[in-house]
Amino acid sequence: MSIIVQKYGGTSVGSIEKIRDVAQRVIEYHKQGGRMVVVLSAMSGQTNQLIELAKEIAREPDLRELDVLLSTGEQMSISLFAMAVKSMGYDARSLLGFQVGIRTDQLYGKARIHDIDTSRILKNLEKNRIVAVAGFQGLDEKNNITTLGRGGSDTTAVALAAALRAEVCEIFTDVDGVFTTDPNICSKARKMDSISYDEMLEMASLGAKVLEIRSVEFAKKFGVPIHVRSTFTKERGTMVVAETKDMEKVLVSGVAFNKNEARITIRNVPDRPGIAAQIFDPVFQAGIVVDMIVQNTSADGITDLTFTVPNADYNKAMTLLNNVSQDIGADIIGDENIAKISIVGVGMKAHAGVAQKMFQTLSRENINIMMISTSEIKISCVVEEKYTELAVRSLHDAFGLENVTPET
Ligand code: ADP
Ligand code: ASP
Ligand code: MG
Repeated sequence: MSIIVQKYGGTSVGSIEKIRDVAQRVIEYHKQGGRMVVVLSAMSGQTNQLIELAKEIAREPDLRELDVLLSTGEQMSISLFAMAVKSMGYDARSLLGFQVGIRTDQLYGKARIHDIDTSRILKNLEKNRIVAVAGFQGLDEKNNITTLGRGGSDTTAVALAAALRAEVCEIFTDVDGVFTTDPNICSKARKMDSISYDEMLEMASLGAKVLEIRSVEFAKKFGVPIHVRSTFTKERGTMVVAETKDMEKVLVSGVAFNKNEARITIRNVPDRPGIAAQIFDPVFQAGIVVDMIVQNTSADGITDLTFTVPNADYNKAMTLLNNVSQDIGADIIGDENIAKISIVGVGMKAHAGVAQKMFQTLSRENINIMMISTSEIKISCVVEEKYTELAVRSLHDAFGLENVTPET
């Protein structure tokens, strides 16, 4: 019989009542014959609360200990869920990441899954149990607890679905599926029936947190179909699958935004070989991901370098870069009040003029573009954070995304 992996996010298990509802829902699937593996997130807000607690103890909490702390959120929800299932007369087992052999590298706070040992899950399924696995956590090769990065329960679920060769990985969340943009900020956002792995990868990496990016990477690599759907209805949601010919007909399929990045500019940088390596070396060593790097043409052997980093790494990056700037005689300015607005679509590959339409739309709204970056299937602009909603809504209108067949 086929295995079904389902993941329920924080809002879906946000209260005792909701945990009971999820238990009931899972039992229904179990009764229909599905062998159920359920991945749960921490109850909504809990991971944030744990981070706040850690920050009360130390401004920069020790990363190993932070992972020990953060992994407790998911421990709580799986145990409560398993109790609920048992109280309803069915058998369940809650298992932590290490108990199901989720092996990761050593990067605390953003560890990558290397390997999963499915034997314990399979044994429990054979005993007709519903298996609840804690999302977001694993164990490194020295048996330290690691976490997979914010939103990482999605990754746990898809990785388990791949390892168990599950029929589908269902991601249950607080919206009806993947929309053309975040339905919570744009009332005209339209739910898509399907989206390609590549588009979803771009949307996720550009800020659409409905799926965590690594979960989509896993799904693409192992061909796991993902079904994103609502916890609160029975409706079909959005399938994330391999690209089909039809998808290419659509020019722009979504608008994403990310307010969680900061912009750093280093001015008066001497323009000589090796300088970029010298500037970025300490930042890369610290595991900070740098995005959207722009270097101006130099005048009199001096240039400016601008790039973005995640907000969470901003203070650390500024400290590291301050040291380098002093060494090379440059100065540094930072800005945390920015947002990156992106349009995404596989159909863009074959069309000119999409970028121009994006720039004109933002200009009509008097929104200044600070940085631009493009790839084959996306265009991103950095703007002032206060214009996020306006930019998203006007781009959504301009590209006709509320209609079932967007402009081609
Ligand atoms: P969960 O707790 O279930 O993991 P998340 O909060 O991580 O849920 O992700 C769901 C949220 O993603 C939605 O509430 C919505 O605000 C946001 N979101 C952003 N972009 C999109 C999009 N394109 N489609 C659907 N939801 C989106
Ligand atoms: N609890 C973790 C978070 O809030 C993981 C998850 O919910 O996917 O980021
Ligand atoms: Mg999430």
